[in-house]
Amino acid sequence: MIKICEIDIVGNSKTLKYYRDKGYDINHGDKISIKLYDLIPTSSIKIDCYCDICNMCYNITGNVNRNGLYRCNNCSKIIRSDKIKNLHKDLSKSEVIINKSKKTNTDRYGVDSPMKLDFFKKKLKNSFIDNGNQQQQCNNNHCVC
Ligand SMILES: [Zn+2]
Repeated sequence: MIKICEIDIVGNSKTLKYYRDKGYDINHGDKISIKLYDLIPTSSIKIDCYCDICNMCYNITGNVNRNGLYRCNNCSKIIRSDKIKNLHKDLSKSEVIINKSKKTNTDRYGVDSPMKLDFFKKKLKNSFIDNGNQQQQCNNNHCVC
């Protein structure tokens, strides 16, 4: 939740047109108050708000129109890690995905993994060389050099 409804901005040449289109009477160098939701999405102004989950105060910049959801970094991290855990929770689904991948690879290439083909091994090797990661590639147990 955002603490404030309005914010002071100073007009500059990059934002004048945006705010004039929103209906504000602003000139270069003018300091005016605008509705927070009219703030240009690319703004770097820091805005105080409360996390909807833990009520901790933190700052946000840029787009304040976040579908009404405000989460601090800690809460976002927890939610993200929970989502990732849930993705891999159902092992039967991952088994289905692996089997489908094997079937698709067998249909397309005649083997269950494209890495069993010399063409893909060479292509991977060239990608590592192009990216300057040859040393990293050679340290890998699955080295194809
Ligand atoms: Zn939080």
